Amino acid sequence: MKSEPLSYLGKDGGPWEIFTEQVDRVIPYLGRLAPLAESLKRPKRILIVDVPIHLDDGTVAHFEGYRVHHNTARGPAKGGVRYHPEVTLSEVMALAAWMTIKNAAVGLPYGGGKGGIRVDPKKLSSHELERLTCRYTSEIGILLGPDRDIPAPDVNTGEREMAWMMDTFSMNVGRTVPGVVTGKPIALGGSLGRRDATGRGVFVTAAAAAAKIGLPVEGSRVILQGFGNVGSAAARAFHDHGARVIAVQDHTGTIYNEAGMDPYDLARYVAEMGGVRGYPKAEPLPNAEFWALPTEFLIPAALEKQITEHNAWRIQARIVAEGANGPTTPAADDILQEKGVLVVPDVIANAGGVTVSYFEWVQDFNSYFWTEEEINARLERVLRNAFEAVWQVAEEKKISLRTAAYVVAATRVLEARALRGLYP
Ligand code: NAD
Repeated sequence: MKSEPLSYLGKDGGPWEIFTEQVDRVIPYLGRLAPLAESLKRPKRILIVDVPIHLDDGTVAHFEGYRVHHNTARGPAKGGVRYHPEVTLSEVMALAAWMTIKNAAVGLPYGGGKGGIRVDPKKLSSHELERLTCRYTSEIGILLGPDRDIPAPDVNTGEREMAWMMDTFSMNVGRTVPGVVTGKPIALGGSLGRRDATGRGVFVTAAAAAAKIGLPVEGSRVILQGFGNVGSAAARAFHDHGARVIAVQDHTGTIYNEAGMDPYDLARYVAEMGGVRGYPKAEPLPNAEFWALPTEFLIPAALEKQITEHNAWRIQARIVAEGANGPTTPAADDILQEKGVLVVPDVIANAGGVTVSYFEWVQDFNSYFWTEEEINARLERVLRNAFEAVWQVAEEKKISLRTAAYVVAATRVLEARALRGLYP
């Protein structure tokens, strides 16, 4: 008998449809595990919660919250919490599924999860945000725990929200449980090196890809979309290794300087001015021209769906290393492959953040904390090994790095599923 399609998404499947399309592309390479792939197209559990809070003016507002466990065959669910006015169930499902793939591709002992609240956090005061975070954490508390589901920051959440989540969970169980979330402040059991980990990982994996095609990092050009946590840390790592950051685009505009910019200086400017626009040591550039700039490395580190069939054909980069989650559509992927642009996919390129989150969780269990040097060295080792494994599969099967990463990851997840058997 055939499995019935999911009914709760309606006709327009949203981002979840992109994920299921990616799974379909991988099935031909899964061999004896292929019949189990259907389990990847079905999130294990979905919790939708009402989050009512008192606003500062005394009225009550309700928000819609989600927590999705996509797959837990290899370990507890792990994935961030996003606050955004356009969060949808389909988006949270897709993000949870990408975490399953990312954790398995890198070899971390986790399943995939994700959460979100449909809210514009910029419209709430700090006190309102605290009440929202605490109530949401309590509502999804039935799923959480260091051995069950470990949230982390995502878009519009950070150390502050993780501290509130950790406190709420701890209050509810009557003891302090640092390992229930990662991305916490250092003073609460957070890890050194976590803040720069994703950007550092983008550099490590992009450099590993460059070495494979004989492209030296030193003296190369880099352009970045997004100069937030991920983009700025990646820019610093490239700069420190002798590359030139020649263009940066963010929500305020695009700046360009062929001689290269100092990302440390640019970060100070952005911290003060709120964006790159008007940076005095570069020229402004129309946003659309950013994509066509001749460069060795292009780092999308902002939003989803930025490289599409409309701009992919103009890209001149040798390597695209995806700092953002899902910046390239499947149609653009095909165009880039045809053009010979090497794409280091998000599930490997931006896995540095969850890797150091894993280190944070391990340190919390042991109550023993490592030095930043130890953390960075282990991070590089994990990512290099993951990249190498994916590269081998891509070579062997003559497939893209993205498809290869999915083959490696899906094989690990489905192997675990096969070994565990189907309960009961
Ligand atoms: P951030 O909020 O710190 O920075 C986002 C950047 O994107 C900012 O520079 C912003 O100006 C820019 N941006 C926003 N809208 C834009 C637009 N329309 N055009 C151009 N630029 C725009 O976020 P972040 O933590 O750096 O995350 C960036 C991406 O990386 C997201 O896709 C996120 O899911 C992904 N990611 C982040 C981490 C992490 O550890 N922070 C880990 C894995 C993946």
